[in-house]
Amino acid sequence: MEKVILLRYGELFLKGRNRSSFESALIDSIKRALAPYECNFSRTQNRYYVENYRPEQERSLVDRLTKIFGLCSLSVAVKVASDYEQMYAAALSAVPEGSKTFCVRVKRADKRMNKNSMQIAMEAGGYILGRRQGLSVDLFTPDTTVNIDIRENGCAYVYSGKVECAGGMPLGTAGGGMLLLSGGFDSPVAGYRMARRGMKITAVHYHSYPHTGLQARQKVLDIAKTMTRYCGDIRLIVVSFTKIQEEIHRRCDGDFMITVMRRVMVRIAERLAVDNGCGALITGESLGQVASQTVAGITSTEDAVQQLPVFRPLIGMDKYEIMDTAAKIGTYDISKQPYEDCCTVFLPKNPVINPKLDKARAEEAKLVDLDAMIDEAIKEAEIIEYTAD
Ligand code: ATP
Ligand code: MG
Repeated sequence: MEKVILLRYGELFLKGRNRSSFESALIDSIKRALAPYECNFSRTQNRYYVENYRPEQERSLVDRLTKIFGLCSLSVAVKVASDYEQMYAAALSAVPEGSKTFCVRVKRADKRMNKNSMQIAMEAGGYILGRRQGLSVDLFTPDTTVNIDIRENGCAYVYSGKVECAGGMPLGTAGGGMLLLSGGFDSPVAGYRMARRGMKITAVHYHSYPHTGLQARQKVLDIAKTMTRYCGDIRLIVVSFTKIQEEIHRRCDGDFMITVMRRVMVRIAERLAVDNGCGALITGESLGQVASQTVAGITSTEDAVQQLPVFRPLIGMDKYEIMDTAAKIGTYDISKQPYEDCCTVFLPKNPVINPKLDKARAEEAKLVDLDAMIDEAIKEAEIIEYTAD
């Protein structure tokens, strides 16, 4: 019996006028994911199939496919000829040992068959009951639902069980977003959340070498690479913040250090966003999490952004929810390494919790030649391209 993977996508986004562009973005993602494997990909009206793969690659294939945004679930099915005996035998083998109750659901696209869906379901049920001790039928809350999909092409797909996929919208259907990526837990999760809504992620990281070490930098590189599992290819722009941070330290009221740093970070990020075709900034801020993430703190950061929207997908999330997602996407173990990014250098003892906007602007205005420093930081930035395996 041949194995087949059935892929299902969210129906909703395929209903509107954008259907064909969404669908082609989804198919692109699937084809890219399948490229390293020996297999065939096919589609009928509302289903996708992966066939003719090597059985020993099934687990790895399933794992890869569950990370594609736009797919909602998949099932590993056996493909048989739409012959009753073969379908019933496949249905029997789809009931796992240990299951106590089951039901059979039949979809019959092939109307040439002489039995209707209900008759086929009942016969398959009888076949299973006659061959497996201790099983009974439960139509409402069965341990196992066996599905028999009879297609028009003379074959049937038989399966039980569904694996949840990443959901969301296909990558690239929502334009580009510039993610401010630190080494912490939050920003990688923020990038993941926006990529899940279809954004192509470009990331910018600020470091203060030699005040921060090479390990802190490596940590962010590893995070960006890991993010490609879900987010696809990522361009990481590594910007030296050393001179700017020293200038802020030299001139500004210490309590406003972080406020001013955030303002300059978003200024640089916005320029890079425009240069890289991104229509939004993305940060990992979560309301109230730290002193700079109060409403006043966020107001004084956002004030330095000229035109793009700032997306903060974690704004209403708790830290433990963010950590759960970090673990799921594989960035948790990297983020937990102790190497610190530039935010912890010259840290004030009492960062201001509710910065007044006027004062934040005035502190930033004390910086000498900020525009020239920004130009230089952008000019000297290092660009690293990560491709999804
Ligand atoms: P994270 O866990 O993402 O580091 P955090 O809780 O530590 O977040 P902050 O350090 O206040 O919060 O940073 C808030 C946001 O500012 C981060 O989520 C990130 O988007 C951005 N950011 C902070 N530091 C950097 C940096 N060195 N490079 C790029 N972006 C940064
Ligand atoms: Mg941080």
